[in-house]
Amino acid sequence: MISVAIDGPAGAGKSSISRIAAKKLGFIYVDTGALYRAVGLKFALSGADTSLDCDIDGILSETAVDIRFVNGEQRVFLDGEDVSDKIRTPKASMMASAVSARPQVRAFLLEMQRKLARENNVIMDGRDIGTVVLPDADVKIYLTASAEIRAERRLKELLEKGQQVTYDEVYRDMVKRDYDDMHREIAPLKKAEDAVTADTSALDFDKSVELILEIVKRETEKQ
Ligand code: C5P
Repeated sequence: MISVAIDGPAGAGKSSISRIAAKKLGFIYVDTGALYRAVGLKFALSGADTSLDCDIDGILSETAVDIRFVNGEQRVFLDGEDVSDKIRTPKASMMASAVSARPQVRAFLLEMQRKLARENNVIMDGRDIGTVVLPDADVKIYLTASAEIRAERRLKELLEKGQQVTYDEVYRDMVKRDYDDMHREIAPLKKAEDAVTADTSALDFDKSVELILEIVKRETEKQ
């Protein structure tokens, strides 16, 4: 099996680029952020806010998160319900980031991710895929872009979904989330030593996909 690990900050285009790149390669695409978002949603539904002043182990013991592929697209299920669309809000992003700093939550989701990579050729994106989840991945990419460009892209995405947000709100949330993700004790976002950096600040979407495919080709041919 071949595994491609793609990590990077919020809004770098990891999901949209990885989805198309995976399609072109005939690999499955696994968006691990969706798993943390589903857990974050569960905590929100249980009445918690980002301070997570609650019984984390108790809530997790009553949580079932599951990934299924419908027509080749990943859907995420929380306690049997497809929550793939519900988890795409600014609030869900902040809850995901909060729960993701807790060791119990990371342990809860780890094996599911590894199993998917054992059984499939995969492009998996997240924050700790190359460093923790798949340290032996065949290809590791650190995908990034400037904070301003990432905020603009994320704003466009949210507005297209009909959400009412401003550039300033998106920028502020994104910078906070990146800071928290990079500075947490467990599995912080960082470039794996053996990862290739791909900066898409100056690239449009098609060129970004091309760049990823080039890196995958080059790195797998080396082996
Ligand atoms: O990728 P996405 O923006 O959907 O991720 C939401 C949050 O989930 C991130 O801000 C991060 O805190 C967390 N996450 C993580 N590890 C991953 C993927 C996501 O901690 N592998």
